[in-house]
Amino acid sequence: MKRFITNGCGDVLLVLARTEPEFSDGRGLSCLLVEKGPWVKVRRLEHKLGINGSPTCELVFTDAPAKLIGQRKRGLITYVMSLMNGARVGISAQGTGIGEAAYRAAREYAASRKQFGVTIDTFPALRELLCDMSVELQASRLLAYYSSKSVDLEMGLSRRFEAQKGTEQAQETRRRMKLYAGFNKMLTPMAKYYASEMSMRAANGAVAVLGGSGFMKDYPVERYLRDSRITTIYEGTSQLQVVAAIAGVMAGLYKDVVADVLEGVEVGAELLGALAEVNKLAEETDAAVEFVKNHPEGRMYQDLHARELVDAAIGAVIGALFVRFASKYPEKKAALDYWTAVKFPALRAALERAKSGYTASVADFDTLAPFPPAE
Ligand SMILES: Cc1cc2nc3c(=O)[nH]c(=O)nc-3n(C[C@H](O)[C@H](O)[C@H](O)COP(=O)(O)OP(=O)(O)OC[C@H]3O[C@@H](n4cnc5c(N)ncnc54)[C@H](O)[C@@H]3O)c2cc1C
Repeated sequence: MKRFITNGCGDVLLVLARTEPEFSDGRGLSCLLVEKGPWVKVRRLEHKLGINGSPTCELVFTDAPAKLIGQRKRGLITYVMSLMNGARVGISAQGTGIGEAAYRAAREYAASRKQFGVTIDTFPALRELLCDMSVELQASRLLAYYSSKSVDLEMGLSRRFEAQKGTEQAQETRRRMKLYAGFNKMLTPMAKYYASEMSMRAANGAVAVLGGSGFMKDYPVERYLRDSRITTIYEGTSQLQVVAAIAGVMAGLYKDVVADVLEGVEVGAELLGALAEVNKLAEETDAAVEFVKNHPEGRMYQDLHARELVDAAIGAVIGALFVRFASKYPEKKAALDYWTAVKFPALRAALERAKSGYTASVADFDTLAPFPPAE
């Protein structure tokens, strides 16, 4: 049985299944192809919070004939993992798209809705909210595009390496391929995590801007709010994106990414202040990483504070992307300045938490999160 299968009603099913009973972990899984037939039944279509245009199926397989794809035992470890970069980049585009739709709806509504004789987009609180939505949306797009480029480079260099094998150039191609492969292990979960969480904030913000109308089916924003939620769940939840990104953050890879983003960028005098802020945040992240590395609770402490470190590293990478962007398009300086002035203080507060040594959420779990009393 397989649950939660998108388009499970299709003609062809790519199935990850256990073929090696002696292994209970990922090594026992292989990739199989199953064609539609009486051996696969869609037991039910799920009733969901959102994405109701996408059928999510529960499938039951009964003695289904299947063809092995690739080699046995490599289903999860090699094949699914190699699909993950593409899947994460795809969801980062989906989250960015929902964020864009939500922002457009909110921006247009705020310019037309009048309260007390003026349009609501004149109120500072709404201006702040719309600026936040706009800048986060731009940030998400920058990170999604940069990650896509990096994944493209890894794939292109891998093909070039195969063609160059045995030649002098092959070593250099291999070095660059490995560099981007390393980046992508950290970057694609970052892009997926940031864009999907951003899409929820944007959709929530749009509902807020539309007020009571936002709660109604008359406008599309309630749907954006429902549809955005899945982007933080499928292809790996946000927590698992943090788990995937933290190794790169602990290894300081985000600093190499920042350097890669800024390579060849001519930073004018007007951007030097913002660039210094980005570098400062990267250094502060570094200090928090060191603290976490040396904490006596080891892995538990790292797991507890991983999100704060990943958030700060994302903040620095996006900061560098904004610097690069603003160096080409001067009108983008305002978004860069907003990013450093408004977002960095919150990231610094998170880094302080990571350096606080606080472990009660794990150590005093039952006290802090008691079971609800029996009815
Ligand atoms: C609409 C929809 C469509 C889907 N389509 C497909 C599809 O086509 N094919 C397919 O194979 N799957 C599909 N899925 C499955 C989807 O990928 C999983 O539901 C998702 O990855 C979460 O896994 P789970 O439901 O088992 O949750 P769980 O793994 O049980 O997670 C529950 C909670 O525990 C947290 N958690 C779990 N492990 C860790 C950890 N190590 N560290 C910290 N927190 C952790 C999670 O973040 C989450 O908050 C779909 C799901 C939905 C809802």
